[in-house]
Amino acid sequence: TIYLDNHATTRCDPRVVAAMLPFFSEDYGNAGSVGHGFGERAREAVDRSRQQIAAAIGASADEVVFTSGATESNNLAIRGVAERPRRRGDHLVSVQTEHRAVLDPLARLAARGWRVTLLGVEQHGLPLAGWLDPQKVAEAIQDDTCLVSVMLAGNEIGVVQPIAEIAAVCRARGVLLHCDATQAVGKIPVDVRSLGVDLMSFTAHKLYGPKGIGALYARGRDPVVRLEPQIFGGGQQGGRRSGTLNVPGIVGFAAAVGLCVEELESEAARQGALRDRLADAVLGSIAGAELCGPALDAKTPSGAPARLPNNLNVAFGDVDGESLMLAMPQLAVSSGAACSSTDPEPSHVLRALGLSPEQARATLRIGLGRFTTAEEVETAAALIPQAVAKLRGMGRT
Ligand code: PLP
Repeated sequence: TIYLDNHATTRCDPRVVAAMLPFFSEDYGNAGSVGHGFGERAREAVDRSRQQIAAAIGASADEVVFTSGATESNNLAIRGVAERPRRRGDHLVSVQTEHRAVLDPLARLAARGWRVTLLGVEQHGLPLAGWLDPQKVAEAIQDDTCLVSVMLAGNEIGVVQPIAEIAAVCRARGVLLHCDATQAVGKIPVDVRSLGVDLMSFTAHKLYGPKGIGALYARGRDPVVRLEPQIFGGGQQGGRRSGTLNVPGIVGFAAAVGLCVEELESEAARQGALRDRLADAVLGSIAGAELCGPALDAKTPSGAPARLPNNLNVAFGDVDGESLMLAMPQLAVSSGAACSSTDPEPSHVLRALGLSPEQARATLRIGLGRFTTAEEVETAAALIPQAVAKLRGMGRT
């Protein structure tokens, strides 16, 4: 099977696995243990890894809080700000096209009395479909807004949001900005200071690292961003997130981030070219097929690329995405039919772009990755049009 679902998760790079192995059965100490070498070696590994991960995003080590993944990081950022006893107020601003790991914590807060404004995005068919105009953020901020949360890169249509511009708007109004950078870190350059974010979530398993380990960047000065902890216990990580540190996970996370930084430019160019080739084949040979999200070469008004190089999302109009997946068992892709097995609704992201439920179901999301080869792309480029033609043929009989 050809794996083209790298937005869902990525293969753990064998070099990452090799870096992790000693920390399972040799240096297996608790990084919180004092007075023996096992604890010291674990602590040193954690410190080194924290430093490496922080450096990769332009942060300092004390600004990185390890979590179980981006879902937890998003919860810690959003609830951590909203539930602070001393806060600016009870209003939060976010976007309709965020991941469920942002929208659900916001919905829970809304059910408990907070006010949440969800902004709309540029519509399907426009060159910047899915893009959020920073002006909308400026208009949504109120005197009691405590947090704005906007993702850096979309997990369905790969749209890259103008975070630096949004951060400038937030800073001018004294409002904190959280950014879910889960799909961006390791794929495009990410620097917390040039983005101007106060809080930023990311996770290892989307960048060829292990599952179950993520991080939240929380700005440590000018001024310090204070969070209400969400998990209480042994007081690890300065009390910001209790729990024994996942040492092998943290070591793997750092190794994975390091490889991504080293290979970022060459991989973005290589995957971008393969993605463009696949897009040409699919859009060029299937009648009625349309690109979802920003144009492949779209630039934001400030001149930045508006789409992740590894993302492709296509609407077929009359061919159901799930049926299409079943017709191509050789391809591991994802459809806009349901974003998770617990959610029977068609993709809320595609719906927010203005697609009808039927149109949103008739889509495929393709995520290329480090291990995707040119041969695999050629195979996919042949299989998808064949499968669409077959299903259309069946529909007519
Ligand atoms: N945010 C975005 C944009 C994602 O794509 C994902 C992945 O599913 C998450 C958050 C959740 O990440 P994790 O699986 O590490 O909890």
